[in-house]
Amino acid sequence: MEKKLKNLEEECLKAVIKAENLEELKKLEIKYLGRKGKLTLILRGLKDLPKEQKPLIGKLSNEVKNTLEKAFEEKKQKLESAGIEKELKKEFFDTTIPGKARKIGHIHPISRLQEEVERIFSQMGFAIMDGPEAESEYYNFEGLNIPEDHPARDMQDTFFIKGKGDKKHGRMVLRTHTSPVQIRTMEKYGAPLRVIIPGRCFRYEATDASHDSTFYQVEGLLVDEKTSLGHLKGILAEFLTRLFSKPVKIRFRPGYFPFVEPGLEVDFSCFICKGKGCRVCKHTGWIEFMGAGMVHENVLKSGGIDSKKYQGWAFGFGLTRLTMMRHEIDDIRLLTSGNLRFIKQF
Ligand SMILES: [Zn+2]
Repeated sequence: MEKKLKNLEEECLKAVIKAENLEELKKLEIKYLGRKGKLTLILRGLKDLPKEQKPLIGKLSNEVKNTLEKAFEEKKQKLESAGIEKELKKEFFDTTIPGKARKIGHIHPISRLQEEVERIFSQMGFAIMDGPEAESEYYNFEGLNIPEDHPARDMQDTFFIKGKGDKKHGRMVLRTHTSPVQIRTMEKYGAPLRVIIPGRCFRYEATDASHDSTFYQVEGLLVDEKTSLGHLKGILAEFLTRLFSKPVKIRFRPGYFPFVEPGLEVDFSCFICKGKGCRVCKHTGWIEFMGAGMVHENVLKSGGIDSKKYQGWAFGFGLTRLTMMRHEIDDIRLLTSGNLRFIKQF
């Protein structure tokens, strides 16, 4: 009996050492220590032993049982920790490898400048207006004091749209400036008025480094009972000073635009050389910037505003041109080319 127990112990320990995984170990445990296991059967047979053998064999059996249980427990832990290590090895990834950079786009330089312009004028109490890009001849020309036989129409050759329009408003065109929205705004809101109108415009012309068939403008209009060119000068100087974060001076020169009387060309002091002369200002210290003037009586009338009671001033500048100046871009066509190598620089 004693020998049987010793043999069983030895046999079982050997098997435990050989066990390669938890499943195998579990099977062994059942085989030896389970309810119908080898050791259990021996223990059950104890009661049939002669009385004098019982204490000795009983003690030995318990020792064997404890040894085996301990062996199973140790092996189990060993296998478990080996298993975790294996899992970790499988899932390991190097945290020091640089991450994959996600490519995200950005706002187009023209749109970004437009947002800045809108923000500055909003702070000065101007509302932001919008209007259709396909306009009637009336709003684009007649309403703005440019009748059909007016020579100024030649200055703004445009794209006509086939088959649209009516007798009252004429044919449909792609607007050549943002000025039609002046009339629309006056018709809708009356006086007093303080608005800017940013937007896309179109001209039918040969493209080159400084001309494109599509470009962006910002129109400004202020109508009130007592307003003058002095206010215009102040507003523009303030606007440009805030935009460039540098003090900017304004200069007026006489100019002709059919929708204003008197008309002005507006220059501002060069924000790069501060008037000393550089490439951007063509060594004059001044940058030609926009057209402006007191709103023509006929234009106020088109907008349904009493020109005896109200006056107004208006201005229009090229947002595209300002963007080019700001980033020193020398070809206007790049801005709408969709060339990513160009646009990614901003
Ligand atoms: Zn300069």
